[in-house]
Amino acid sequence: LHANQLNFSGGPGALPQAVLDEVQQSIQCVPETGLSILGISHRSDWFEQVVFELERNVLSLMGLGSDYKVLLLQGGATQQFTMVPMNFLGRHDGAHADYLDTGYWSAKALPDARIQGDIRVAWSGRSENYARLPEDHELLLSPSASYLHYCSNETVEGLQFNRVIGLPGVRRVCDMSSDFLSRPGQYDQFDLMYAHAQKNLGPSGVTLVVIKRELLEQVPKGLPSFLDYREQARANSILNTPPVFAIYVVLLATQWIRQTIGGLDAMGEINQSKAACLYRVIDQSDGFYRCRVAHDDRSIMNVAFSLPDPGLQAHFLAESALLGFSGLAGHRSVGGLRASLYNGLELAAAEHLAEFMSDFAQRNG
Ligand code: PMP
Repeated sequence: LHANQLNFSGGPGALPQAVLDEVQQSIQCVPETGLSILGISHRSDWFEQVVFELERNVLSLMGLGSDYKVLLLQGGATQQFTMVPMNFLGRHDGAHADYLDTGYWSAKALPDARIQGDIRVAWSGRSENYARLPEDHELLLSPSASYLHYCSNETVEGLQFNRVIGLPGVRRVCDMSSDFLSRPGQYDQFDLMYAHAQKNLGPSGVTLVVIKRELLEQVPKGLPSFLDYREQARANSILNTPPVFAIYVVLLATQWIRQTIGGLDAMGEINQSKAACLYRVIDQSDGFYRCRVAHDDRSIMNVAFSLPDPGLQAHFLAESALLGFSGLAGHRSVGGLRASLYNGLELAAAEHLAEFMSDFAQRNG
């Protein structure tokens, strides 16, 4: 396999080869326009159609109807940490929102949200070192919260929810940056979902927000237009110059999921198989490889694991790099190892890594 196909990076991550091939061609010339994608106006009819088709693809893949709007924003997922409370916390007396603190990224959303008002933590896994996700009965959810915010997949720790969290009647907001369009789900249970492109869908520079249209009516007056979901929706995501190139790549990725893969059920099965082959090696290694997260909460996107000592870990990284693998070091905040298995990474690559891991364990165990 080519180095691009053995890219297990946590993000920006591997993209499908077919998408890369089309992107390469588009740098010279997008067939329909005769122009390079890097020089096409965001005010062209062609680009308007790109945005339109991308929105249609996302809604159709997620099984959502026209009561949802797709926005293409900048500022990464991090900007959503501010925009969500700025737009939806509310300004009434006692206005508050519930947040789950389940790992590095959901915790990162807290300080920015607190600048906007009263943010309550309905459950925190911090004292247990983020080794598991909560059970429903542990959640201190408020029925009068303006919304609940949580992260469906904790990229750093490798924890993933397999159910929808929250109280009926309280809006659900979810950071899906590391598992967006990677598996089927009950997406109509959410009021706002956001995800940056650079893991499952494209390069960095664009963040997708899928929002229930009725929520747009609740945005308070007086926000800076760039940070106002309603203004962004009114402008169909072309409020200012958007990242045309990144958006085009995301369009190609959604076409690939629809046409080549066959939708989210098929995508989910492939992603499940990729994760299963790595967890199998970990579980059968007699403790050589360790996965510290609770079994039921294991992520199929980010397989985080470690070796008994740092020397072996360095050895693992060096040997795997010689074979063409990359991106296997754990996040700088936790160390260890991590294999990220985003949509663009093929099953063959995960199998190849599993073989290497078995072999490495046999030689060093
Ligand atoms: N949320 C999650 C789940 C993430 O994994 C990341 C980054 N890896 C972020 C938010 C921050 O995203 P960005 O760098 O686009 O602001």
